[in-house]
Amino acid sequence: MSQSVTDVICPFCGTLCDDLEVIVSDDGKKIEDIYNACAIGAEKFMHAQAAGRVKRPRMQQPDGSYKEVSYDEAVEYTAQMLHKARKPLMYGWSSTSCEAQSVGHEIAEKVGAIVDNTATVCHGTTLIAVQDVGIPSCTLGEIKNRADRIIFWGCNPCHAHPRHQSRYSIFPRGYFTNKGHKNRKVVVVDPRDSDTAKMADYHFKVEQGRDYELLSAFRVALRNEPLPEKVAGIPREKIIEAADMLKSGRFGIIFFGMGVTQSLSKNHNIDNAIMLTKDLNEFTKFSIMAMRGHYNVTGSGQVLGWQFGYPFAVDLSRGFARYNPGESTSNDLLRRGEVDAVFVLGSDPGAHFPISSVKKISQLPSVCVDPHITPTSEISKLHVPVAFVGVEVGGNCYRMDNVPIEARKVVDPPEGMLTDVEFLSRVNSRLEKLSGGK
Ligand code: SF4
Repeated sequence: MSQSVTDVICPFCGTLCDDLEVIVSDDGKKIEDIYNACAIGAEKFMHAQAAGRVKRPRMQQPDGSYKEVSYDEAVEYTAQMLHKARKPLMYGWSSTSCEAQSVGHEIAEKVGAIVDNTATVCHGTTLIAVQDVGIPSCTLGEIKNRADRIIFWGCNPCHAHPRHQSRYSIFPRGYFTNKGHKNRKVVVVDPRDSDTAKMADYHFKVEQGRDYELLSAFRVALRNEPLPEKVAGIPREKIIEAADMLKSGRFGIIFFGMGVTQSLSKNHNIDNAIMLTKDLNEFTKFSIMAMRGHYNVTGSGQVLGWQFGYPFAVDLSRGFARYNPGESTSNDLLRRGEVDAVFVLGSDPGAHFPISSVKKISQLPSVCVDPHITPTSEISKLHVPVAFVGVEVGGNCYRMDNVPIEARKVVDPPEGMLTDVEFLSRVNSRLEKLSGGK
């Protein structure tokens, strides 16, 4: 007889869906089926069961091949690497629990590392803008129940957050939005004909890199001030029509993604989007929210914030926390050759960093802690497989709207496999001894 585990959290994207049902074999070891998850969420659970999964740490050999080593040897290599390094980089943290992040930060403080998370290449610019001007935001529950004006700016949730629209933003019937999509007007700002754009009432194909101008044009239109004939490729009449439509709503939300955080003007785009939200509040209620990617990148910013006061790119090399994006951010440090060891957990810079940074990682002493074989694991000197958070071990995570949600364990990890917290705690204890503690 199989058993059903309900209210399971999906540990894939920042939507952090909390309504999954997982069918588990009677002995609690095998996942048989998954209900309610989207295709990528379901794949995350099934991947834990994949044949050929690496179950023990692997050390890179001089000929590039890998040799299996014990967890004790992996702990020793990691502790020695971090102890000897003058300025190690500890990167990632977005696909693990807050508990693991917290132990990782303790290690970073001990060894004088730089702690950076994946915001460095996605919403770091958002975090800078929030520090500049604040952010009027809300929860996804409020959006479901109240929002009737939805803007997706530079994001494509159909592919990146597949259940976002059905659970929160376009289709659900909420308390004040009981007709679902019929209650809502949807605007998409994207130079591409994305699948999200196909569902929109208004699709503004903004010219590449000219988001700042279009945001400014909306602010001008709200005040009925004159506009040029076209702004960023969009005719004046369309901008005025959309601005009037936004003003006439009861509750609106701007969701924005990397199309606007990482295009020309970067954090200034987000400053301007936040100021547009502020302006819209002179006419109706409006909020703004970042579409966070990794399921706990928001949690990483939270935990870093509590512990050191900054949400990413925290430099602890002088014995106290410093923060200067552009200087203390991972790619800048790697490309300038300023770090001498790299520890990666819960992300894949090998797949997402520029090739110049990836080459630097491959030349340095490096450890990759990840349940999967990834481009990063394949360039690291040591790969340490661990249990899947949210599948084989529970832990706290933060949804994209900063709501903390406790992820659940649904099956046991392979026998003898450590969790992120267990591995980091053992490294931390070994470092304590290396640095002369008890
Ligand atoms: S939308 Fe995101 S959190 Fe929800 S099931 Fe899909 S991948 Fe998981």
